[in-house]
Amino acid sequence: MNKRWTISKINEFVEKNSDSKLLSTEYHGFSQKLLFKCTCGSEFEKTFTKFKNNHQRKCDVCQPPKASR
Ligand SMILES: [Zn+2]
Repeated sequence: MNKRWTISKINEFVEKNSDSKLLSTEYHGFSQKLLFKCTCGSEFEKTFTKFKNNHQRKCDVCQPPKASR
């Protein structure tokens, strides 16, 4: 089932489920990259799908992307 996300719901999710902060103020859909700020101070872009489903909730320095097999 597809839940409809709004930027405020995403913001809430980010606050509750990660240490990162959401910087983007608009959300247009799952393919859109959102701008986050990591606890280390770096900013990074990720789609919300990756953030939520793949648990990519930090920048690439704190959480290097895993090579997919
Ligand atoms: Zn970081």
